[in-house]
Amino acid sequence: MAAVETYADIRDAVGKLCAQFPGPYWRDLDRRMAYPTDFVQALTQAGYLSILVPEEYGGSGLPLSAAAAVLEEIQHAGCNGGACHAQMYTMGTLLRHGSDAQKQRWLPGIADGSLRLQAFGVTEPTSGTDTSSLKTTARLDGDHYVVKGQKIWTSRAEHSDLMLLLARTTPRSEGMKRTEGLSVLLVDMREARGNGMTIRPIRTMMNHSTTEVFFDDLRVPAENLVGEEGKGFRYILSGMNAERILIAAECVGDARWFIEKASAYAKDRHVFGRAIGQNQGVQFPIAKAYADMRAAELMVREALRLYEAGENPGAEANMAKMLAADASFAAANACVQTHGGFGFAEEYDIERKFRETRLYQVAPISTNMILSYIAEHVLGMPRSY
Ligand SMILES: Cc1cc2nc3c(=O)[nH]c(=O)nc-3n(C[C@H](O)[C@H](O)[C@H](O)COP(=O)(O)OP(=O)(O)OC[C@H]3O[C@@H](n4cnc5c(N)ncnc54)[C@H](O)[C@@H]3O)c2cc1C
Repeated sequence: MAAVETYADIRDAVGKLCAQFPGPYWRDLDRRMAYPTDFVQALTQAGYLSILVPEEYGGSGLPLSAAAAVLEEIQHAGCNGGACHAQMYTMGTLLRHGSDAQKQRWLPGIADGSLRLQAFGVTEPTSGTDTSSLKTTARLDGDHYVVKGQKIWTSRAEHSDLMLLLARTTPRSEGMKRTEGLSVLLVDMREARGNGMTIRPIRTMMNHSTTEVFFDDLRVPAENLVGEEGKGFRYILSGMNAERILIAAECVGDARWFIEKASAYAKDRHVFGRAIGQNQGVQFPIAKAYADMRAAELMVREALRLYEAGENPGAEANMAKMLAADASFAAANACVQTHGGFGFAEEYDIERKFRETRLYQVAPISTNMILSYIAEHVLGMPRSY
């Protein structure tokens, strides 16, 4: 069984790039809730955000494990890939299900960074995790769809040129599967803003540029329908495994950052005449977080291996995401505890990273839903909802 490539050269180069964006850069943005434009620009110029775009469209055409290596190292360096990770993988839906004309039109710009496709409009305020109940509609009117409804938590919408939107094109009716009748549209936000689409930022506990987006009879050209009408739910699902695996890799990177910070401080900080790290009460949570992080890392690799072998590793992608998010949050907690009062001081960056990594217990899928997936699809227990 071939192991996945770990891309030591890419990791090293990403680490060097990230070193140009140290703690003070992120602290300043965090205070102002501002977007890390320079950081995203540097990643774009170095070609990291187009790593998954095939070479024929101007990307590097590398496998998912290369993207995982990039994102893990970004987090490991104390930076925040959440600002742009979706630019790497959202185009996957277009790549897999779009027409040749759509790919020729959009992918080269996405690859060179002149077009940002990093807004993903799925979640709605009333339906939440129950995606098939979403209420945003897209009604065909001549050669346009007319979109009406609202999305919430559409991250990076203000920093995106395009949005991948999931909307209902066929009303739900008796006997129809809940997941049928949903379609994916590529919305050109540059044209849409002020012409039927309004974006409102939502302030959150971490700097994540998330928003709510309102559609009031927005007209989207019918040619922007991705794949077949009514099959959008399946297209979105097909991209979710990649997203979960990549976010799991980010959580492993976060965990490594917290563990390194915590163990270094535990060795340096002296209280009662000895290093605090000499106390097992301080050592053990860090050691446990390390073991959890390594276990999660193995699951990420297994998910990557299966994904790259052409399988659809729903169980492994979900488990990798859950284990890695748990490991990063346990590491974050141990890191705060190890630093005592200093864990709460902005200048240590720990409280910022703590807030940032907490997100991954909830998004892009919450832990409960992963456990439900395992219970139902792996262990064959009855569906609970
Ligand atoms: C900062 C941020 C960024 C995000 N970015 C995006 C984005 O770019 N695009 C996008 O489309 N979405 C995005 N999301 C949305 C995210 O995917 C959802 O928040 C997440 O899927 C949970 O949905 P919800 O918030 O509606 O919670 P709900 O579905 O209302 O669930 C609330 C709680 O109840 C639990 N729960 C619900 N049903 C069950 C059940 N049957 N069994 C057990 N527990 C249950 C959930 O696990 C959760 O803990 C983002 C969210 C945040 C906070």
